[in-house]
Amino acid sequence: MNNTTPCLIKHPVDINASYEVAVAENPANRGASTSSRKKRAAIRHTHFWAPGRTLRIAFLKGDQGFKDATIAAANNWLPHVNLKFDFVDGEEGDIRISCTPGTYWSTVGTDALLQEEGATMGLSPDMRMPAFFAANVMHEFGHVLGAQHEHQHPEVNIPWNKPAVYEAHGGNADDYEEDGDHYDYVRDVINKTYFNRLDANEVRHSTYDPKSIMHYAIRQEWTHGDFKIDLNLVLSEKDKAFMAEAYPYPDTI
Ligand SMILES: [Zn+2]
Repeated sequence: MNNTTPCLIKHPVDINASYEVAVAENPANRGASTSSRKKRAAIRHTHFWAPGRTLRIAFLKGDQGFKDATIAAANNWLPHVNLKFDFVDGEEGDIRISCTPGTYWSTVGTDALLQEEGATMGLSPDMRMPAFFAANVMHEFGHVLGAQHEHQHPEVNIPWNKPAVYEAHGGNADDYEEDGDHYDYVRDVINKTYFNRLDANEVRHSTYDPKSIMHYAIRQEWTHGDFKIDLNLVLSEKDKAFMAEAYPYPDTI
């Protein structure tokens, strides 16, 4: 497994528009922020779809084996949520999946609505190790349902060895002696991807879960001490409970 090309979240360009579409879709996305921090609260919000919705999910390309494996893995979420997935071919869907070797990325939940065309998710069609492919698909569909990265949980306390993470991702100062701007850019991406914790308003609150499908695999040499996370291959019990709470059935509200 290659730990150095992790999933990337595609963040919205317009964070106010992100808030507007999220709240229009599901008013619970507004959260419970206090009015004293109104401006900040208007930006930091959740991205869940309206419970009961059918998400139309389009494959922009990919062979049948790729599509079948993607559908099978994504459907692992369905017993736990009041949502339906309608997989189709073509370019029209709430979610649109591209198939590009070596990349895994997605928008988060309702941010997909901000994008009128083109892919909202990228999956690598590498299925040499079916369990890893399935894990990556479940992870990306966790983003589709509105989940953020678990290693950036508001209460997480990973003993990062930051220089080692920078080094593993091409963020070494020595590599950029003549291009300081690009060095700053690379470090900034790594900080946002690995180290920055989320605001509590951006997530539905539950305790940190190292077994979450939404957690990056973390090599021991990237931390101090013996902290490490192996790639989680299945939905954790907390993953299931978290989504069941976000997408309840009417008689459970
Ligand atoms: Zn991710």
